[in-house]
Order: sequence, then structure tokens, then C-alpha cells
Amino acid sequence: MVRSGDLRLAPRKVFDLTTFHDLGLSKTIVDTLTALGFEKATPIQAKAIPLVLEGSDLIGLAQTGTGKTAAFGLPMIEKLLADARRPDPRNIRALILAPTRELVNQIAENLRDFVKKTPLRVVTVVGGASINKQSEMLSRGTDILVATPGRLLDLVARKSVTLTQARYLVLDEADQMLDLGFIHDLRKISKMVPKNRQTLLFSATMPKLIGELAGEYLVNPKKVEVTPPGKAADKVEQYVHHVPGKDQKAQILRKTLTDNPDGLSLVFSRTKHGAEKLMKHLDHIGFKAASIHGNKSQGQRERALKAFRDGEIRVLVATDVAARGIDIPGVTHVYNYDLPEVPDAYVHRIGRTARNGRDGIAIAFCTPDEAHLLRDIEKLMGIQITVASGEAPAVITAGPGGKSRKGRGNGGGGQRSGSGRAGQRPARKPFSDGAQAAEGAAPSGAKRPQHGRPAQKQGERQNRNHGGGNGRPQQGKPRRSEGQRREQA
Ligand code: AMP
Repeated sequence: MVRSGDLRLAPRKVFDLTTFHDLGLSKTIVDTLTALGFEKATPIQAKAIPLVLEGSDLIGLAQTGTGKTAAFGLPMIEKLLADARRPDPRNIRALILAPTRELVNQIAENLRDFVKKTPLRVVTVVGGASINKQSEMLSRGTDILVATPGRLLDLVARKSVTLTQARYLVLDEADQMLDLGFIHDLRKISKMVPKNRQTLLFSATMPKLIGELAGEYLVNPKKVEVTPPGKAADKVEQYVHHVPGKDQKAQILRKTLTDNPDGLSLVFSRTKHGAEKLMKHLDHIGFKAASIHGNKSQGQRERALKAFRDGEIRVLVATDVAARGIDIPGVTHVYNYDLPEVPDAYVHRIGRTARNGRDGIAIAFCTPDEAHLLRDIEKLMGIQITVASGEAPAVITAGPGGKSRKGRGNGGGGQRSGSGRAGQRPARKPFSDGAQAAEGAAPSGAKRPQHGRPAQKQGERQNRNHGGGNGRPQQGKPRRSEGQRREQA
């Protein structure tokens, strides 16, 4: 007789959808990933890889840092390898579009790691670099082209490349491409890539225009999502200092940087000019600082990023366009020195910290004339950001719910209480309270850090195309060229 306690289920193969093998990738790729230290798939990879392998069009809602490059790159490489054809001269087999030079380079770097043991060629084309060299690179035929839209169209116009053999089209950071006014370029390019392609669209947020774009260019897309749009990574602790003016921003920044000498800080400025001025100020008072923005050459931007990544410089002052998508795992602090005009940008900015499982702190400064921007950010994220110092002006304290947040100081804020970290100060000192910060940071009393640093340059007005106050670009308006846009940002 068999008693129920003796019953055993026959052993069954259990698929672990976090191993790359079980997701359907071949041994060659899995071995490469193992060598790179990729043991388990991230959630976006676990969801997207099988869908891309089976040939579906895909909308991926995920930010940079979630592993989305591999999520689209690995299955695409797998499929390219399965088809042994080589690309004809001046033709490509797959196209990845991204909004900035940095992101293009970062994607290509990742993909080159993945294709190391294969015959596949990855080529990049971006503005601000020699078009002749890029044309020469394309002449041999390319498996995967990673490009910014404007430069790609320039190369198509010169007949350096045609897109008619492309079978894969990836639009990465699609929302940012729209913000930068690339919609017309994207439409032109989409028409050049044959209809029988597979299209993958990745975006950190899902504004209406992205939905429309997806409706036009994707066929029965599957949707995968890892971070709800508008929600910052839970691990980022967020604070805001309400300050009367710019001087106090500089003082508190100085104090906080001094208190965190081992931190790696990314400071966002709204304009090129502002970024350059702030970087020079920080350099002058002894911090190892550099800046990246649209007035820097590509070489300067790459050198600054490398020095920051290597920890040679501890403070990088950046505009949104230059910093978009950069993946530097060690960033401990993100400062919103100026609040962004588009609330989505705040989410992207703070997503530069708390990467790869680490903690991160986001500190914003808010002058009275920026209060409406803070209100928009809080509305988008559905949280109240903890007040680190100062008093929130009326536009915030009397928000839609009419509840005052005055006097809560460090103890208020939906995000903090919701995150279960109430009152818990990070081991690093994110800030000092307002009065102390202003006094402690005053030039006479400030402790000068012992690092000096080279300076770099320039000025800006961030290029955003607002549509009817929703922060999105308006359709149908003439756009500037990629070159002109870069002049601005
Ligand atoms: P991405 O979101 O594509 O910019 O990826 C962010 C970082 O995570 C990159 O440095 C990748 O090399 C790394 N990464 C992506 N997927 C994995 C994984 N499955 N395991 C370990 N690291 C990963």
C-alpha cells in the first residue's frame, strides 16, 4: 500500500528563466556571458529575450541600467548568427538608434563584448566625429550599426550606407529621441528599413507620442516592463533643499561634497553655460571636477567620462543630453543643481545612481522660481520628496491635496515613509541641514578638500521641445538638424 506521505513526484525538468541557457541562447553566447560575469539574466532580459528570439516586435519599458542592451542585443546577435549571410558592402543587417553619442558608444561597447567570438561586425556612427572615417567603416558591410539618427541620415544621403537589407530595427531611449526632436528623422529612417523587419522599441517612459510611434512602426508588439514609468529605483534616497537663490545651492553643494570625499557625484545643470561655470567654480575651490555638455568635443566628453568612471575625478557636472543613459556603476550622489524643465528628466537623472544593486542618494535644490518644477516631478512620481532644509514655498505646500508640508524637515515625504527607511540617515552624509550647510560652507569656514583639478569649458540652453505644457515635443514643427541641436545642448 502506498501512503500519501510516500508519494513522490517524478523528477521534472524545471526551467530557470534567469539562466541564459534556459532563455534559449546558444552555448557560444552563454559561454561569452559567463566569461563576462553575467550569470543570471536581469528581469528585462528574462522577459524580452524569449520574445525577441521568437520574432515578436517588442516595446520594452526599462531604463538604462536594467540590462536592456543585452535584452535586445543578445537575441538579435543569436538570430544574426543563425543566418550565416554576410552583409553586402555599404549594407547593414541590424540598426540600433540611440539619442546621444555616449549612449551609442556604450551600446556598441556592450555588443562588441558579446560578439567577441563571432564574425559579426559592430560599427558606430555619431555626429561630431569624422564622417569620412565612418563612411569608410561602412563600406565593408556591417552586421550591427549603432547610430544617432542625424548622422545616419547624413551617411545615407551620401550613399555611404543603405538600410534595405536591415532586418532588425531597435529604437533605444525612444522618449529621449523624441525630446530631442528626432521624430522626423525616426520617421524617415523607419521608412528606409524594409517592412519585413523586427522592430524593438525601448523607452524609460511611455508618453502618448511613443505610443503613437509604436502604433505606426511596430506590428502586434509584445510589451515588457521592469520599472513602472515615473517611478525611480526604490533604492534611491531623495532629498530636496529649498533655497532662496543660486548662491545657497553652491554653498550646500560644496558642503555636501566636502562631507563625502569618497563619493562619486554627478551634478546636473540645466544649461551648458551653467554646467561650465559650476565646474570651474568647483575646480577653483579644490574639487576634482569635469564637465560634459554639448559644447565639448566628443574626445573631451569621452575623456571626462573615463576619468569619472576611473574615479580620477570625483564630480562630473553635466547637462541632460550629455549624461543621458551613461552607465557608471559607482555614482553615489546625483545632484539636481537645477531642476529639469521636463519632470521625466528627473527620473532619468536620479537613475544614474543606485545602479547594479548599490545604494544611491539624489539631492535636489529648489529655488522659489523652480517650485512648480518640483511640484510636477512629485506629481509624476507620486511621492513627496523629503525636505532636507529650507521651507517649501506655497505652490508646493498647498498642492492639489491642500496639505501643508512645512516643518516636516527630514521627517516628511511619502517616499521615505513608504520605503521603510524612515528617519534612517545613510552612512554617507548626504547633506547637512540648511543653516549649518550655509554657514559651514561659507568661504571663510570651509574645509578645502586636498584635490586640485584641470578645468574644461562652455555655455548652453537645454533643447527641449515642449508640446502644450506636457513636456513632450510637438508634432509637425520643423526640427533643427542634429548638428544644430548639439549646438544647444
Ligand atoms: P544596460 O541597462 O544595458 O545599460 O546595462 C547596465 C549594466 O549592467 C551594463 O554595465 C551591463 O554590462 C550590465 N549587465 C547587463 N546585464 C547583466 C547581467 N545579466 N549580469 C550582470 N551584469 C549585467
